[in-house]
Amino acid sequence: MTTLSETSPAPGTTDVVLEAEDLTKHFPVRRQLRALFSGDRLAVHAVDDVNLLLRRGRVTALVGESGSGKSTVARLLAQLYPRTGGAIRLHGEATTVRGGRRFRAYSGRVQMIFQDPFASLNPVHTVRYHLTRALRVHGRVGRGKLATEEALADLLRKVQLTPPERYIDKFPHELSGGQRQRVAIARALAAGPEALLADEPVSMLDVSIRLGVLNLLAGLREREGLAILYVTHDIASARYLADVIAVMYAGQIIESGPAAQVTDAPAHPYTQLLLSAAPDPDRAEPPSLRGRGAPPNLIRPPSGCRFHPRCPFAMAVCAEERPAAIEIAPGHTSACWLHAKGLSADQSRPLAEPPPQQTHGSGGPGEEK
Ligand code: SF4
Repeated sequence: MTTLSETSPAPGTTDVVLEAEDLTKHFPVRRQLRALFSGDRLAVHAVDDVNLLLRRGRVTALVGESGSGKSTVARLLAQLYPRTGGAIRLHGEATTVRGGRRFRAYSGRVQMIFQDPFASLNPVHTVRYHLTRALRVHGRVGRGKLATEEALADLLRKVQLTPPERYIDKFPHELSGGQRQRVAIARALAAGPEALLADEPVSMLDVSIRLGVLNLLAGLREREGLAILYVTHDIASARYLADVIAVMYAGQIIESGPAAQVTDAPAHPYTQLLLSAAPDPDRAEPPSLRGRGAPPNLIRPPSGCRFHPRCPFAMAVCAEERPAAIEIAPGHTSACWLHAKGLSADQSRPLAEPPPQQTHGSGGPGEEK
């Protein structure tokens, strides 16, 4: 399959719109759960020290299993959650907004698209109402009825709902899932954003219409020059759409680089595991990550490398110290002791005793389902 990333501009030629530096989010644990763990001040370590750049005219995919923290990163970037630590910069300027006019100004530039197009559109209002309201909230409604009508038609054309008059007075229940998601994207565009944060935007859609919505996002990247964050558990769709892929595991980014490199020559053992479980039409058995251990409990995440309880190459140091991200090729980093020590997988010395397998923990409020 030809990938869209192959037609995109060379790395380093586009501007950074949105930047996360050491982004961290810990959700406090409720009292009843604290009692179970017999400790104070416990928290779900949903996101730890995440660094991410969203560039103009490029798609960055954030990929990982359910509960890896990828949706939390999107919500932090949208400033829907207060962060525990780290910084968010919009065009280099540090920003922290909590509600009110400043949030409206920020959300006009950084828009979020949610997973469920059924829940994100109020069923009692028409497409016209949803789009007009978004234009009005962000001060983009035209002068006079004619200008507003033209702005609405333009939004529907941008998401390929044409002719616009066929869709403008429909209610959400009169549209298919794909059309509803296109209306949600049009509503996001009504704000005139520079960045779109798309949280699993096709995962609830019929397989047959997913490609159309992915192609729409790719077109918006090209035509509107948008910086897009594409959050997904599906590394194959990330390979298709994205220029850059960042892989998350247990709240941390463990590998990042050009999409083709990360998928064709994955460096981190977890990325290799994720790719081995990706759907493959040539395989008879449906793939699964089950039987290869479960993600860790994020209330008490494993020491050192958080992947070490599942990693077939784990060494003693892996359980003791967290590996730093090492650049293994231009723009391609991996946080693994194998690279830090210049070892290959078969040179690693396994742990004498495999650490006990920890159970799956809560990913915190708003985490992926
Ligand atoms: Fe495996 Fe160690 Fe690398 Fe973690 S740091 S992925 S445990 S080899």
